Parts: sequence; C-alpha cells; structure tokens
Amino acid sequence: ETELRRLSDEVATDALTQIANRRGLTLAFETERARLEREGGQLAVGLLDIDNFKRLNDSLGHAAGDQALIALAEHVRKSLRPVDVVARFGGEEFAVLMPDCGHDEALAAGERLRETIASLRLLHGASETGPLVTLSIGVGTEEPVEGMNSDLLVARADQALYAAKRGGRDRVLSRLGRHICQ
Ligand code: GH3
Ligand code: MG
Ligand code: MG
Repeated sequence: ETELRRLSDEVATDALTQIANRRGLTLAFETERARLEREGGQLAVGLLDIDNFKRLNDSLGHAAGDQALIALAEHVRKSLRPVDVVARFGGEEFAVLMPDCGHDEALAAGERLRETIASLRLLHGASETGPLVTLSIGVGTEEPVEGMNSDLLVARADQALYAAKRGGRDRVLSRLGRHICQ
C-alpha cells in the first residue's frame, strides 16, 4: 500500500520542483469540484509565467535556470495559504488554485506574489547584480452564477496572462467574464 501511494504521488509530482505537475493539478481541480458541489463557494486560478526566462538560461546557464525554478516553486508555495495548490503547468509556467477566493482577493494575492518574487535576488544564486526575476500573472475567476469549469478558468487566466505579457510584463491582470481588469 505504501509503495502504491508512493508511485501515485510520483506521477502527480513534478520531478524538478517537487510540486504538483499537470496531473496533480487535474486531481486538485477534481477535489475542488467535489468541494464546491458539496459546500458551494468560489475558486480562482492564477497562471504565473517567468518573464524573459530564456534570457536567464542563456546568460547564466540551464542549471542556474533549473535552480531558479526550484527556488521559485518553493517561494510561491510558502507565500500562499495552505489550502492553495501550486502546480508546474509547463516549462517556466506555474498554476495556482485558490479555493474560496473571489476576484478581488485573487488579484490581490497575485499582486503580493509578484512583489515578493520581484524582490528575491537570491533566485539567481550567481550574482547580486544579475537581472531580477519577474513574473507576469493572469488570474481567472468565475461569475458567482456559473458552475465550476476548470478549462474555462484556466482559459481566462491564460488570456489575462497573455494581456499581461503584451502590456509589458511584471504585472498582474485578471479576467472575469468578458472584462480584463487590473
Ligand atoms: P516571456 O517573458 O515572453 O515569457 O519570455 P520567456 O523567455 O520566458 O519565454 P520563452 O517561451 O521564449 O522561453 C521559455 C524558456 O524557458 C525557454 C526554455 O528553455 C526555458 N525552460 C523551460 N523549461 C525549463 C527547465 O526545466 N529548465 C530550464 N533551465 N529552463 C527551462
Ligand atoms: Mg512560458
Ligand atoms: Mg516566460
């Protein structure tokens, strides 16, 4: 039984950062859906993408890039509430599930995260004078009348993230229904 649990944890965990991977994120969404059906409430999703990460890899090397990803995952996990779920969504992109979080709270949480990470020179390890790591964050939230649709939430967060990149990076935007908000 222990071995089975270890294996199932392994397939839901990202090997580099030791946080949830895409599969772990899907499982977390399923847990949230069950909770919302039982108790009602809200759910917000944040998508975090490191700005100009390719440049960091190119200047400091891939190994330094890996260390930055590990440090970032750890800091994001520590700065959120215990009920929030952090997952590696793709290469240098992370997803955060925020249960019981409305639009304004989710936007504020994203902004706190952006500020915390922007102040972390230690992410680079290599030098104090190196470029700072900044994040662009897109937040997706639901209308209170809607049921939970994880694909829709992620799609909204992704659209807001895209707008944050286009708007100049190092910023948090949200998308609720049809409107992009800052
Ligand atoms: P943007 O601000 O538009 O997001 O620019 P970007 O450079 O962050 O985005 P782009 O998609 O051009 O590059 C992503 C980079 O992330 C390129 C890829 O090598 C790097 N990357 C993805 N996964 C890993 C990884 O596991 N380790 C390291 N070191 N780098 C990774
Ligand atoms: Mg990316
Ligand atoms: Mg990026």
